[in-house]
Amino acid sequence: MHQTIRKLFNFFYPNRCPKCGAFLFAEELLCEACAEEILIEQDGYCHACGKTNCLCKYKPLAYDRAVVACRYDSRTAPAVYQLKESRNTNFAYFAARILAERLRHGSYYETEKFDYIMPVPMHKSKQRRRGYNQAGLIAKELSEILHLPYRDDVLYKEKSGIEQHKLHSAAEREQNVESFGIREVSLENCRILLCDDVLTTGSTMNRCAELLKQNHAVFVTAAAASSTVPREKEQEKETETNLSGGN
Ligand SMILES: [Zn+2]
Ligand SMILES: [Zn+2]
Repeated sequence: MHQTIRKLFNFFYPNRCPKCGAFLFAEELLCEACAEEILIEQDGYCHACGKTNCLCKYKPLAYDRAVVACRYDSRTAPAVYQLKESRNTNFAYFAARILAERLRHGSYYETEKFDYIMPVPMHKSKQRRRGYNQAGLIAKELSEILHLPYRDDVLYKEKSGIEQHKLHSAAEREQNVESFGIREVSLENCRILLCDDVLTTGSTMNRCAELLKQNHAVFVTAAAASSTVPREKEQEKETETNLSGGN
């Protein structure tokens, strides 16, 4: 963008932190304090299922690996809400950069071996209304950083189901994810990096990975911008923060 146009653009649409609303420089995505607060440590979650409270020891998953950038809790929620409901998409780019970093430096992710990067799909009419699929923004940014092909023409959402995070029971979530579909595309021996904004029970990623494997993909890595953490962990963290803040 031309310098003057950018200045004008920033004047009318100032760049703000999606979490706390603070004004940012043009190139910033989140303010430093917020970024620090919402990041999940790379060794703080299970690298197979992407959860701080490992789920895969109880049930086998269709995806093989997971990489996560941030915790999804009451403190991250505003940033994710901004990404979904308004036009501040900074969180998508922020998370994509963290994910790329972790994929590049986590030796077992073998980044160079991915054939495609795909988003968890959103129903067409919903995407038209919103103007974008937030999982698509994350996936596209990752594909640019990692120089890997982006594909959103393989998986699709059949009907606009209820959003996963609005459902309370695991059983409801399992049923709701039935609405994904896959087109007749050969994925023979392909390794896929599948992206989403929030990882809750893993059932959405799991269903998409199942479909990819039905089309003969051999390996699926789930990349999530954020992963929900159990309430107790969230409270522990808050207590820790309060205690260290009091020192
Ligand atoms: Zn902030
Ligand atoms: Zn696990």
